[in-house]
Amino acid sequence: MNEYDSDFLAQSLIQSGLLPVDDPARADLILINTCTVREKPEQKAFSLFGRMARIKRRKPGLILGIVGCLAQQMGEGMIKRFPQIDFVMGPRELDRIQEILEQIYSGRTKIVATGLEAPPPQPTLCRGYFKGRITAFVSIMEGCNNFCSYCIVPYVRGREISRSPEKILIEAGNLIAEGVKEITLLGQNVNSYRWNEGKNVDFVYLLKKLNKLEGLLRLRFTTSHPKDLSDGLIKCFADLDKLCPHIHLPFQAGSNQVLKHMKRGYTREEYMERIAKLRKVRPDIAITSDVMVGFPGESREDFEMTLDLIKRVQFDGLFSFKYSDRKGTLAEKMDRKVGENEKGSRLSMLQVLQKQITLKKNKDLEGKRMDVLIEGYSKREGQLKGRTVTNKIVNLTCNTNKIGSLLNVFIKYGFLNSLQGELT
Ligand code: SAH
Ligand code: SF4
Repeated sequence: MNEYDSDFLAQSLIQSGLLPVDDPARADLILINTCTVREKPEQKAFSLFGRMARIKRRKPGLILGIVGCLAQQMGEGMIKRFPQIDFVMGPRELDRIQEILEQIYSGRTKIVATGLEAPPPQPTLCRGYFKGRITAFVSIMEGCNNFCSYCIVPYVRGREISRSPEKILIEAGNLIAEGVKEITLLGQNVNSYRWNEGKNVDFVYLLKKLNKLEGLLRLRFTTSHPKDLSDGLIKCFADLDKLCPHIHLPFQAGSNQVLKHMKRGYTREEYMERIAKLRKVRPDIAITSDVMVGFPGESREDFEMTLDLIKRVQFDGLFSFKYSDRKGTLAEKMDRKVGENEKGSRLSMLQVLQKQITLKKNKDLEGKRMDVLIEGYSKREGQLKGRTVTNKIVNLTCNTNKIGSLLNVFIKYGFLNSLQGELT
């Protein structure tokens, strides 16, 4: 989501006549897009502010803006803490960037824009901006109404609001015209997408429309909430040829007690029943998830239930986090907090288990052939990188004119984080 927002801002700025530079020390304007979902990204953002503030001390004319969720949360407090900052802009105010810059050019500083009511803006495509990009994001909804007890998102991104299907289709069409072959639909709760104006349009309707777009090879979406994963949506994995067989479906915890305190709205049994249905409809579907350890009150037995769910589901990949208090959330005020050391040891146990599962799944692909969409250069020298429909990274040696092509690749090795392919 932040990457999408950064692209939105970059396109707006280029359209207003600014040019990108590759070194912050040469910039006249620096925007830092921030995340506050966990403690770690927040700390990273603070250390970056410190570095950028030092540049501003040497170059007083530089305009420094902090945008995104941390900006939303701290508002004016951000300027008090870092007086070098000229403006703070929350994620629902992004399309005010040009107006805010006008105010700054005419002498005003210290602007705080943290409204949460604005509907998601329509990016105006900046021709050439996506040149060379094979994959792109399209945001279809913003915000969240779920208020899971640990989560800051509803407070910093506001209530759920969807974009009109017409605007989404125009944006997708523009990206395809620029050469994009794969689109990932984005939303905090992508599957609760709903557009009620005039007609009653839901996520399944939208997927069916996008699936018909000529020139589009692949369609993905993230992040889905298990409680909103309808049978109709599950069926799309069988029916829509462009929809990739991969779903990112966060489960967060394997214990019903913890899930209840998290206010997730499903039980472990319901979660596993959804997984079974997905696999019935599409046996080759890859399933990834998010999980956290050390939620307040999580006992050793609760944690064992999380490990047990991981063993039963056999995820293709898992993002795992230590619970961290977020200001203003219900969980922050809960007692029976789990100690840092205990959280650390639970996280490493969980990660050891998941690594074995991921590695085994990737090794099982050795000797198979898979369709790979070549996206660009690999981190491995002299190689290109692509993805399978199941979202696994494949590195391979092939001619750069294949970037953007769908190739049938022989999988020679399966590693933990990628596959090694060969064109044979
Ligand atoms: N909308 C998605 C998640 C968005 S936040 C969903 O409902 O699943 C991305 C991930 O960050 C979450 O899945 C969760 O695992 C993690 N996360 C959110 N708040 C957290 C917190 N307070 N501490 C640790 N991890 C957290
Ligand atoms: Fe946060 Fe829960 Fe909303 Fe996901 S569904 S963004 S975890 S409140």
